[in-house]
Amino acid sequence: MQVQVSLTIELAASASLTEMEQQIQAAGRQAMRAALKQAIRQWEDQSPTCPHCGDKRRRLEGTTRRVIATLFGRVQVPRRRFRCQGCGRRWCPANGLFAQLQGGNISAPLQEAAMMAGCSWPYRVASSQLKRLSGADISAEEIRRLTNRQGQQRAAQQQAAAERAPDAGGLGWGMGGEPRTAGRHGGQGGRGLLQSGRSAHADPLAHLFLE
Ligand SMILES: [Zn+2]
Repeated sequence: MQVQVSLTIELAASASLTEMEQQIQAAGRQAMRAALKQAIRQWEDQSPTCPHCGDKRRRLEGTTRRVIATLFGRVQVPRRRFRCQGCGRRWCPANGLFAQLQGGNISAPLQEAAMMAGCSWPYRVASSQLKRLSGADISAEEIRRLTNRQGQQRAAQQQAAAERAPDAGGLGWGMGGEPRTAGRHGGQGGRGLLQSGRSAHADPLAHLFLE
């Protein structure tokens, strides 16, 4: 699979170095979006058989649009829809590729960046910084949801790990029935195992959620 995109940048003769960098970056993002679209198109061509009956005879029946938010902006993907000449059923080959998004429209790399930004800045600032730094188009509300969801998952994992700890060698509890890790954080044992757990503080996402 080879993807090729061309890049033409019109720069004013009077452009400053900053203007050159900004315009080249913008053109680069546009080329990245084009490259992703092309890669998806080629991926579609690699699975020509019907997923229902395995027949290779298919007829193009138009496209259905899907938008994905990536690190380099929103990409509109015209997924091709085929109809099998053997069994008559329809399918979109690209759906296999999009399965990892689990029905969402934010790519995994952007989700990761958004959660990091969401931990570091207020969501509104995170949204504008991502836009400025990478060209990503993701709202403050989307960042809030991703960051909270991830924080909840991490907190649940840590709670499960903390609950397992006594069985795994009795390391989880100190004398007097208090979580042993509580003492390391100035006696916050009364606030519960999760908030006092050392690992919760080592993880910025869980920390944010638990505060
Ligand atoms: Zn078929």
